[in-house]
Amino acid sequence: MYIDLSDLNEVGGRKEVVTDVNFADLSFRDRDIEIPKPLHLEFTIFKTQDSFVIRGKVTGSIVLACSRCLEKFQHQLDLEVDEEIIATEMPDLNELDISDIIRENILLNLAIKPLCAEDCKGLCVECGQNLNEEECDCDTEIIDPRLADLKNFFDDN
Ligand SMILES: [Zn+2]
Ligand SMILES: [Zn+2]
Repeated sequence: MYIDLSDLNEVGGRKEVVTDVNFADLSFRDRDIEIPKPLHLEFTIFKTQDSFVIRGKVTGSIVLACSRCLEKFQHQLDLEVDEEIIATEMPDLNELDISDIIRENILLNLAIKPLCAEDCKGLCVECGQNLNEEECDCDTEIIDPRLADLKNFFDDN
């Protein structure tokens, strides 16, 4: 998404931008991040001697997969953005592409292991049952897959 900067010529000048923008889904380290609805952006852009400073927030909801039970869940985004773009690194001083800035801010603020709930019980390593939905009959002491292998070894013998 491009923001028009042609009316922001004076050093010390500022511009407010409030808009809703659709973003394509993201994929990051084999994780899919769905952005089904437009995100709400509220920025103030300041022009300095040699840069543009973008401050504001991004809100909206995205869809992540839980790292324990693999179910998709809605995650409420509430990002503070504070970036400085150096003028000499911009291809065109009359417009600014903020898509990458927003994408990077989303990725940086995501938990490494997102959870649908703090107390998500995850999947049973034996039978794959989603333990949030229903208990299974497996020996639930085994939670580490490496230990599960060891247990199979002893069971076989
Ligand atoms: Zn979960
Ligand atoms: Zn089970």
